[in-house]
Amino acid sequence: MPLVKRGRKAVEQVPSFIGSEIYRGSSYGAWHPLRVPRVSTVMDLCRALGWLDRSQYLTSPRARPAALTHWHEPEYISALQRAEVRQAVSDAERDRFGLGTHSNPVYAEVFRRPATAAGGSLLAGELLARGGVVHHPAGGTHHGLPGRANGFCYLNDPVLGMLSLRRAGVRRIAYVDIDAHHPDGVELAFAADPDVLMISVHEERRWPFTGALDARAGGSAVNLPVPAGFNDTEMALVRETLILPLVERFRADAIVLQCGADAVEEDPLSHLALSNNAHWAVVAALRSLAPRYLVLGGGGYNPWSVGRLWSGVWAVLNGLEIPDRLPPTAEVVMRNLRWDGNRRGKSPPEHWFTTLRDTPRDGAIRDDVRARLAVLRHREGLS
Ligand SMILES: [Zn+2]
Repeated sequence: MPLVKRGRKAVEQVPSFIGSEIYRGSSYGAWHPLRVPRVSTVMDLCRALGWLDRSQYLTSPRARPAALTHWHEPEYISALQRAEVRQAVSDAERDRFGLGTHSNPVYAEVFRRPATAAGGSLLAGELLARGGVVHHPAGGTHHGLPGRANGFCYLNDPVLGMLSLRRAGVRRIAYVDIDAHHPDGVELAFAADPDVLMISVHEERRWPFTGALDARAGGSAVNLPVPAGFNDTEMALVRETLILPLVERFRADAIVLQCGADAVEEDPLSHLALSNNAHWAVVAALRSLAPRYLVLGGGGYNPWSVGRLWSGVWAVLNGLEIPDRLPPTAEVVMRNLRWDGNRRGKSPPEHWFTTLRDTPRDGAIRDDVRARLAVLRHREGLS
């Protein structure tokens, strides 16, 4: 195994990619935003680009129920398993566990798929015991609650991954979340934990309506709600004047980045206007700030923008050059994607097929973004 530099210097280890074939062809149902392929696209694209060597790829194990109850309630895990077997829930189970709803439907792999994503984050915690970098794009289900499905999330793999890091002896964890939605489940798990710093940048006035500017989770969280139209220039300011100084000062033993792909302009579920360059810049900047780095996926409901964004994350983590134009085998992966039931899927722009990198979406830094940043910087002693 390659050496890891001591202290909080850059990690020299070769990154690992955790994936699984269970995500290929799995769907939450014909009308659900999670009817689109995501992780399989990233795997196919990275392989077509020659970026996913077999030595770097790890098949995600499926977490056993006992491992899930490190945070989830045993009755809920039993109900989730039962739902998969029966492909149905009772009215009482729907009410109590949030299963079988429009958001959290019962589908074919309703236990196995989230248990595999949870298994990936548990494995990541073990792999990172000695340091390193892991990309687990199926992870990032940040809304999951101890005894309920919530916001398309049946289990909370970021929480399980962070608890896995803790069991591996890792103490101080910085959790950074740049998904369009606030990570209510993660915040619940680590509220008031002095060894966890949670930073979230999310769209204001959007479900789950938590994560207000003054919400601090017992002192462990820094929340920045941002207005619709949030652009690359604004994100760069947030990155440089809030995220990086806070993480650097925290002196984390591990960084967990939830890199949801629903904050880009083409996503159907939010109204932010980032390009994927904004995400990649955060991925790159955090890497040198701790000896352990876990990059998860998260939201993202446009199959092209998700595939392009998370494949680019893998390129950034490996120092690979992103080509201006995809090679033909990678282009085929993109041309074979379908997005039925959305107008953007009817005539996708050509660059979704032929490139990974978006055109940067720079813009003016709005006064309310500056004002909120100033509030947080002052409160956190950065100014
Ligand atoms: Zn989201």
